[in-house]
Formats: sequence, structure tokens, C-alpha cells
Amino acid sequence: MKLPVNPEKIVQFKGMREPLSLQAVIKESNRCLLCFDAPCSEGCPAGTDPAKFIRQIKFYNYKGAARTIRNNNILGSVCAFVCPVEKLCEKKCSIKALEDPINISGLQRFASEYGQRFEIEPPAQSLKSEGRIAIIGGGPAGMGCASALAKMDYEVTVFERENLTGGVPRWNIPGFRLPEEALVYDVKNLISQGVEIRHKSPVETPEAVTNLLAEGYDSVFISSGLSVAFKLDMLNGYSNVTDYITFLRKVKFGNESLNLKNKNVAIIGGGSVAIDSAVSAKACGANKVYLISLEHLSELPADKEEINLARIMDIIFKSGSQITGVVENENGLSGLTGIETDWIEPGKFIPLNARQISGTEFRINIDLVVQAIGTKPGNEIMILAKGLKTIGKGIIEVNEDFETNIPGVFAGGDVVNGGATVVQAVGEGKKAAQSIDNFLKNRRTSK
Ligand SMILES: Cc1cc2nc3c(=O)[nH]c(=O)nc-3n(C[C@H](O)[C@H](O)[C@H](O)COP(=O)(O)OP(=O)(O)OC[C@H]3O[C@@H](n4cnc5c(N)ncnc54)[C@H](O)[C@@H]3O)c2cc1C
Ligand code: SF4
Repeated sequence: MKLPVNPEKIVQFKGMREPLSLQAVIKESNRCLLCFDAPCSEGCPAGTDPAKFIRQIKFYNYKGAARTIRNNNILGSVCAFVCPVEKLCEKKCSIKALEDPINISGLQRFASEYGQRFEIEPPAQSLKSEGRIAIIGGGPAGMGCASALAKMDYEVTVFERENLTGGVPRWNIPGFRLPEEALVYDVKNLISQGVEIRHKSPVETPEAVTNLLAEGYDSVFISSGLSVAFKLDMLNGYSNVTDYITFLRKVKFGNESLNLKNKNVAIIGGGSVAIDSAVSAKACGANKVYLISLEHLSELPADKEEINLARIMDIIFKSGSQITGVVENENGLSGLTGIETDWIEPGKFIPLNARQISGTEFRINIDLVVQAIGTKPGNEIMILAKGLKTIGKGIIEVNEDFETNIPGVFAGGDVVNGGATVVQAVGEGKKAAQSIDNFLKNRRTSK
């Protein structure tokens, strides 16, 4: 159970939840039943091992808890803020049968911040004796893989397109949900492990992966995420129409340039990123913010907590609605027209299955439209190596060991799972690291 949010912090783009007090930490950790088979630990895709760190907190070993988190999950501080715990570790908490689950993310945040404040020793440096690995993309999957390989004494180089490490948590997750310091701490720990991060180093030319292998890297891990946003054809070409990747990045790194004071904003989409965009627009001073989605309120892909956050911020839900056209004035787009819809076939939430309800037409005045209707990998992914197998819109195909169809080339995170969570990406990076180690050890013994 998370603590309630503070709307004042949202408009300041500061952490919207207070940390647990020491009294609450002691109380929460003492509710732990110390289960023998610890289902909460099974519920964590990155193997952060909440059962262990909660036990350490319960017995006042706060530094030990901080070490457990950091050693198991290089993004342990970030995850304490962004994990959808109600679907993961807390969902499995045994005490749920009797009362509310233990506030695992709150305890994780406490221990991680304790470790930062009391400066636990940096993680051990890689001896760099086991081989050289190239990682494409320094987001959660790349960081998870790099950290695990460094622990196994590999020499790891991360090639990152941007000038900072962290992927989506760095550029897109709003500051009111993820304070900057949490990511800065996690990145610092990765660097302390001796991982080299080459910023402004996109890997995007044809055959780039093949060339890295020829240059002497023993294996390559691709974790480039999803960088191309889907757009509606009817909204193409307007200067006041954008996508959520561009919008949220602008909000995070220069929200003054947005100037949304007293403006009306329409967000198209009904998932978590649409809610992040809507709440961010409101926090930037927008007048009315509409969330327009084909799904009805009870069908929105965003979870309950996110919908509550949108309600707290007075977002106007236009659920079960479809955009039908654009209103123009001399400056370009000045509004949208739409109509309410229901589903031809119940439970099939796709545009082709929507039926318009005549007599429900609407028109709204809009100054900015943000499209939040999905993403796909960058087009460069398909040319990185000759014959690299992709499915659908550029998603890389891998086997259960996260190995692609090219021997020695592995992939994980959003570019493989199509978009999931930070903790899932870290977990896939860790599993791929283990597979890379197995692959290289097998290759050595078979020589
Ligand atoms: C707005 C938003 C909010 C979200 N909120 C949450 C949340 O609250 N909780 C949660 O668990 N998950 C959340 N997610 C999902 C989560 O952020 C992703 O699942 C996760 O970041 C995926 O990690 P990744 O490493 O696979 O990809 P990314 O985070 O996308 O990282 C990929 C990295 O690769 C780099 N890159 C791309 N192409 C190249 C190239 N050709 N060469 C070199 N580098 C390259 C990119 O610059 C980036 O740094 C959110 C996503 C979005 C968009
Ligand atoms: S990393 Fe996330 S899923 Fe794993 S234990 Fe921590 S809060 Fe739960």
C-alpha cells in the first residue's frame, strides 16, 4: 500500500509521496511473516529479493538492506518509485490474505535512501578478465545486463545515443513520480563497477553489430528500447500536435518553453503514458486537459492508482470517444471534433471495432494535442546485423535465453517484450548476462 500523493509536489515536479517515517518502517517490517518460501521475492522480475531486505530492515540492519537491493538490482532506487508493486511483489505478499500487503516499495525506498545518506561502500569493480561485451542502449535493460556482467568480471562498454544514461526513466518518467536523485545514484553505482558508458554514441549503421563483433567484442547485447511514437494520419503536419515521447521530454528538460498557462490540451490515449502526459500538462499550468480514448473509463489500460491521480488533477475524461476531425484557424489546428462510441464486439478494444453513436458529436477548443497511442523500435534496429530476425514492427525475436538468431548477439527489454516495466527490463538484462556468460564459457570449452 502506497502513501497518498501530495498535489502540491506534483505541480513542482517533486516526488509526490513522502518517504515512510522511521516509525512506519519499523511497523511495516514487523508485519512481515518471514515466509519460508517468500512469494514476494518470486514476484520481483529483477530478483531484488524483498524477503531478504525486509528481514534485514526488521532486524535493524539498514545498511545490509541497502546492499541487498543494490547488489540484486542496479536500478533498485528507481524501482522503489516506479514499480507497479500491486501487480508484482506486493501482489504475492502472504499477509494479503489477512490485511493490506506490506508496503514493499516504501521499505525499498527507505533502505536505498539510507544507503545513500550513510554512504555504503561502492560496489566492487570488475576485474575485466573474462572478455569484452558491447551493450547498445543505456536504459534499464542495458544497465541490468552491464551490472550483472561487470559482477562476473567482464569488460563492458555501453554505447548510448543520448548524452545521459538511464533511458525512459531519465527522459520521460515525470519528476513527480521519479525524483532525479534516485536515478543519479543508480547510474553512479554502475559506473563504480567499472562499466564504460560512451554517450552520444548511437549504434545505427548497417552491419554495426557485425562490425562490433569483428572489432573484438565477444558478444553484443541490444537494449535500444522503443523510440518511435505512433501517430494518427489526420493529425499530421500541424505544429501544435506532438507525441508523448517528445512532450514528456520537453516537460522534464525545459517546461518553460512549453508555455501551457491557460491553454487547453488534448491527450489521445488511455494508458499509463497518456495519464503521465495529462497530469504533466496540468502541472505545467494548462487550463483544461482532456484525455480522449476509445476505451470507456472502466476499460482504460491505465491502472486505478493512475486514474485516481488524473482525477486529483482535474483531468477531463472523454472516454469511449473517437476523434473524427480537426478544426482549423489561421494558426493551424484550433480544435478537435469527435463522437462517442461503443464496441461492435464486446472486449475487443481496437479502432476497427468501434461503433459511432449518432447524436453524441462534440467539438472542443484545443491549443495542443499530445498523441499517446504507442511506440515501436527505431527503424535502424533492422539493419544492425545482416539477417537479424525481427517480428512485427521491428521487435527483435529471441529465444528463452534472450539470444537472437545470430550467435553471440543477445537482446532484451522493451525492444524484445514490446514495452513493459523498468523492473522487467532490468530482469531481462540480468538473464541475458547469464546467457552471455554461459555462451562464452561453452565456446571456450568447445575450442
Ligand atoms: C512515459 C513513460 C512512463 C513509464 N512509467 C513507468 C513506470 O512508472 N514504471 C515502470 O516500471 N515502467 C514505466 N515505463 C516503462 C519503462 O520505462 C520501460 O519499460 C523501460 O524503460 C524499458 O527499458 P529499456 O532499457 O528496454 O529501454 P529504454 O528505457 O527505452 O532505453 C533504451 C536506451 O537505448 C538508447 N538507444 C536507443 N537506440 C539506440 C541506438 N541505436 N544506439 C545507442 N543507443 C540507443 C536510448 O537512448 C535509451 O537510453 C514508462 C514508460 C514511459 C514511456
Ligand atoms: S524491484 Fe520492484 S517488484 Fe522488485 S521487490 Fe522492489 S518494488 Fe517489488
